[in-house]
Amino acid sequence: MAQGSAPERVVPPKLQPVRVPIGEEPVEERTADFREVLHAYTREEAVLEARRCIQCRRPWCVEACPITQDCREYLRLVAIEDFDGAARVTLRDDPLASCLCKVCYHYCEDACVVKKKGVPVAIRQIKRASLDFGASDLVYVPSQPKHQRVAIVGAGPAGLMAAWELGVRGYSVTVFEQEDRFGGLMQTIPAYRMTDADVELARRRFRDLDVTFVDGRKIGLETTLADLLGHEGYQSVLLAIGTPQHRSLEIPGEDLPGVLPALEFLKDRNAGRPASLGRSIVVVGGGDVAMDSVRSALRAAPGASVTLLYRRSRAEMPADPEEVFGAEEEGVRFEFQRAPLRIVGTERVEGIEVQTTELGPPDAGGRRRPVPVAGSEAVVPCDTVIVAVGQQADLYGFGAELDLRITSQGWPEGRGNGYATAVPGVFAAGGRSVVYAMGAAIEAAAAIDAYLAQKRGASPSARPDPFGGPEAFHRPAGYTTPIRV
Ligand SMILES: Cc1cc2nc3c(=O)[nH]c(=O)nc-3n(C[C@H](O)[C@H](O)[C@H](O)COP(=O)(O)OP(=O)(O)OC[C@H]3O[C@@H](n4cnc5c(N)ncnc54)[C@H](O)[C@@H]3O)c2cc1C
Ligand code: SF4
Ligand code: SF4
Repeated sequence: MAQGSAPERVVPPKLQPVRVPIGEEPVEERTADFREVLHAYTREEAVLEARRCIQCRRPWCVEACPITQDCREYLRLVAIEDFDGAARVTLRDDPLASCLCKVCYHYCEDACVVKKKGVPVAIRQIKRASLDFGASDLVYVPSQPKHQRVAIVGAGPAGLMAAWELGVRGYSVTVFEQEDRFGGLMQTIPAYRMTDADVELARRRFRDLDVTFVDGRKIGLETTLADLLGHEGYQSVLLAIGTPQHRSLEIPGEDLPGVLPALEFLKDRNAGRPASLGRSIVVVGGGDVAMDSVRSALRAAPGASVTLLYRRSRAEMPADPEEVFGAEEEGVRFEFQRAPLRIVGTERVEGIEVQTTELGPPDAGGRRRPVPVAGSEAVVPCDTVIVAVGQQADLYGFGAELDLRITSQGWPEGRGNGYATAVPGVFAAGGRSVVYAMGAAIEAAAAIDAYLAQKRGASPSARPDPFGGPEAFHRPAGYTTPIRV
């Protein structure tokens, strides 16, 4: 493209409602092991699909992306077969692209105008193609060193994103993680969707930034927040501690052998540790973690029966419909409107007693409340119960002086601008999905930059080009307001 001329575009003469199909492993083969279910596009398929994008003047897709990924631009580049350019645009805005191209809930696609007439452009799948076929072995470079140190507690998506944001701005960052693996809850995502290798691939691109990763160190235990801000010499701290703890059902029998918290079950699977699953497995819950649990249980215990119990109806299930469909196809049995009362057994689980529910008026979250039906109690026989009813934060060592807000989905965040807590220099952020956590981290990192710039008597700066180019981050042409999907 000549300097100053309009960018080259390939747009369809009229809107194409049909998506280039995304291949999948056949059902009977994919449940035999943890192989990846979704296939990547070929180069040709990616180009065809990208050409369905009409390059809207107002980029609805970008406005719906919590990290403002300029997906309209990478689609334009793939449509003209410039995969190297597309990879650069992708990685310029998204340091965890190798993970998000597989597990992002693609809010961009929900906002895509093509959805009004048919199936939205496969924006996430083309992100993957840009990395597969473009020169994606890029490495991030820091801008001028700021000589100020930031500690980040937690190496989940929020912690990794904040480390990148601050690293490319020239700060010296240390990320403390209590586990021996990085990625936070991404570690629990089953290998048929994403693996640790995807996190490590992303982290390798950080190698020239002044970002140090420390594993196996729980902040709040031997090292406190005061230590970090005191003798450890950090000028600011971000708590990106997420929700690493399991939420229990709080019913009798939960301590029986054969009852497994979903997070533990999924983490053990990914780490290659054996799980003691029986032949008749019940999973309790209705969200994405429950879907990952039923589908993983099918794979980990071939031939076993797997049943999902959910206390509301199918319409109220918070899980991604694609995941629910996948689980059904693979043979999971769904029992709706069943609330667990107690787990039955003496030496080990023998069943779970449930009560049928009716749906009452909506609760504060807008979903209809399950109301138990008297006299409808029954025991569902099983030898394993996996509990997947949510996660919560571990606030050990983080006191009331921070005045943290705990969100409805359990992660702690600061109440101030840019997620500032009540303690000067300390921020706290996380999110309900990988990309939302990253979006929150962008805001927190900008606030940390402003706080530290003021300390050194300078102005806060926009994110520089992470590849060392002259252009700082800016929103794409036509962008108006963020859309929250
Ligand atoms: C099974 C499962 C599947 C999911 N699938 C998807 C999906 O497909 N797509 C999607 O977008 N989202 C998915 N999610 C949600 C997503 O993983 C989370 O929203 C996201 O990871 C939140 O990021 P975070 O950085 O805020 O917190 P977390 O991911 O919870 O990371 C917090 C990190 O902080 C560490 N930590 C906590 N306390 C301390 C301490 N005191 N000291 C040191 N380290 C500490 C924890 O060990 C953890 O590594 C899934 C979640 C689960 C459980
Ligand atoms: S990060 Fe997610 S929401 Fe953003 S463009 Fe990529 S797939 Fe869409
Ligand atoms: S909203 Fe859809 S059609 Fe419009 S630019 Fe984005 S991807 Fe293309």
